[in-house]
Amino acid sequence: MSKDVLTLALSKGRIFKDTLPLLAHAGIEPLEDPEKSRKLIIETSHPDVRLIIVRASDVPTYVEHGGADLGVAGKDVLMEHGGAGLYEPVDLEIAKCKLMTAGPTQAPELRGRLRVATKFVNATRRYFAEQGKQVDIIKLYGSMELAPLVGMADQIVDVVDTGNTLKANGLEPLELIAHISSRLIVNKASMKMKHDKVKSFITLMEEAVRKNS
Ligand code: AMP
Repeated sequence: MSKDVLTLALSKGRIFKDTLPLLAHAGIEPLEDPEKSRKLIIETSHPDVRLIIVRASDVPTYVEHGGADLGVAGKDVLMEHGGAGLYEPVDLEIAKCKLMTAGPTQAPELRGRLRVATKFVNATRRYFAEQGKQVDIIKLYGSMELAPLVGMADQIVDVVDTGNTLKANGLEPLELIAHISSRLIVNKASMKMKHDKVKSFITLMEEAVRKNS
């Protein structure tokens, strides 16, 4: 990685959209729209800042291993990743939602161990262990709402915003596991080696968050 260039890892969709105004505050504008372009490296109006577009769950991995100096990742993704090897200096207060358990509105009586379908395996295991409950966790990669409908799981753990997706599938939110928002994360070596650049980027993001709220 060049010492002069800062690479910021972002995912498409909600995080990209909500990060744009924060970047604009720092005078940084992407030169291409990742929703339209197939490019994975996007230059910006700032010659020393470039963006890489990766899957949301890969953002912490790119930052931890130095593929990017900085990244924007949801707390849900960070809880799952474990957060080792990263700094998490700023709560960007974007893409807010809740990590929750959810189950059928009319849940049949439970026999045996609770079966929980989720893509958040680690956060789920930790949550139920804290409750002193042993559960069977079924790992899925998406559409968790389906699992209780086809009798594969009793509950799910998923991020919930309006709750409309749950409702549309006959499910209701049950317990709150964590409030979620996106965080700015920083590679530990970049924090040392590119200290001035990283530090001023962090300060600009802190200012932008204050302005945004
Ligand atoms: P909802 O508004 O509850 O119907 O949310 C719709 C779906 O969008 C949920 O099932 C989640 O998978 C997803 N979702 C909601 N909020 C977020 C968020 N902040 N980050 C990532 N995914 C989200």
